[in-house]
Amino acid sequence: AHILSQRVVELHESQTLEMAAKARQLKAQGFDVINLTLGEPDFNTPEYIKEAAKKAIDENFSFYTPVPAILELREAIAAKLRRDNQLDVKAENIVVSTGAKQSLINTILALINPGDEVIVFAPYWVSYIPMIQLAQGKAVIVEGKIENGFKVNPQDLQNAITPKTKAVIYSSPSNPTGTVYSKEELKAFADILAPYENIYIIADEIYEYITFERNYWSIGAFENVKNRTITVNGFSKSFAMTGWRVGYIAAPKVIADACTKIQGQFTSATCSIAQKAALAAITGDISFTQEMKKAYLRRRDLVLDLLKDTPTIKTYVPQGAFYLFPDVSYYFGKSDGKTTIRNAYDLCMYLLNEAYVALVDGEGFGAKNCIRISFAAADEKLVEGVKRMKEALNRLK
Ligand code: PLP
Repeated sequence: AHILSQRVVELHESQTLEMAAKARQLKAQGFDVINLTLGEPDFNTPEYIKEAAKKAIDENFSFYTPVPAILELREAIAAKLRRDNQLDVKAENIVVSTGAKQSLINTILALINPGDEVIVFAPYWVSYIPMIQLAQGKAVIVEGKIENGFKVNPQDLQNAITPKTKAVIYSSPSNPTGTVYSKEELKAFADILAPYENIYIIADEIYEYITFERNYWSIGAFENVKNRTITVNGFSKSFAMTGWRVGYIAAPKVIADACTKIQGQFTSATCSIAQKAALAAITGDISFTQEMKKAYLRRRDLVLDLLKDTPTIKTYVPQGAFYLFPDVSYYFGKSDGKTTIRNAYDLCMYLLNEAYVALVDGEGFGAKNCIRISFAAADEKLVEGVKRMKEALNRLK
């Protein structure tokens, strides 16, 4: 007899967490590891947000709240989405969860029946596939190529649609590529999907505030798909609040209610203190996010500049988030005399062991020729990390 369910046996461990754990291990042994695996801002949560949380504690705001969050927070989120994203939403469309991760699994569990197909834009965020698997759905991959800035071609989306398609999921800005879809590009997707009344769009906008080059656009603002779009967002990346665990969806009321029902059985509302902090964040002065964005832009340009004399690492220009996802397939089959590099995972292990630089390979993101470099790290670390990487890569012949 098996101890564990088939469900969990088939589930992959998060690759990003696995590489981060290996880096920590080496660090604990005393090695000077530069960790560029991280998917989180290296900034502290702003003071005004922390103050709101302290006040909530002192005022004993420590009881269960309504499952989708206190009304004030849902109203503030809806107001933000109307103002910044032109979404036609009210508090009743908002469900706040324990991180956008929970928002995503709620949504997938609310929509997907066994056998339903979910079109996933690749490279994709690592957790989409396991979440679809948990719902017994089937992921159908539509790939964006590096030559095209990792953007999915609308025709490929059209070709992937079948009578079983229930949803489409993507992130923009993308983790792991930093790709940002423009209003025109999103309109092309919306126009393709609009005639299919049974297809829902899950738009993961968690990196919304970290966009460098263009005005941000939300697909849920288009009239022809607004009743079938679930917009996912949260506080982790935009307000440097990863540990507070606050994410949300804006969805048609039937779907929002279904997510509240699921969440009501799993976890109930997210932490009451964190809700007060999120309320302060979203209603407060967001100039902090502008400063953070400037720092990421400077670091993006720094990393691109450091790599520009290394054409064997194929790059492109990310327009958002804090990742570079270069193609490193040039090194496959090369060796330093001891180790032969077969794939991106081997290359990451080589760089970790030989250069003490921790990165994540692209396999878990659906791109086996790539590695992910997070530039959510101090400038000096990026300079030193890329220097060490280049030295180690130069030894591969
Ligand atoms: N979506 C994307 C694309 C992400 O990169 C992340 C975090 O890494 C999440 C969702 C989940 O964010 P959280 O659960 O911290 O709100």
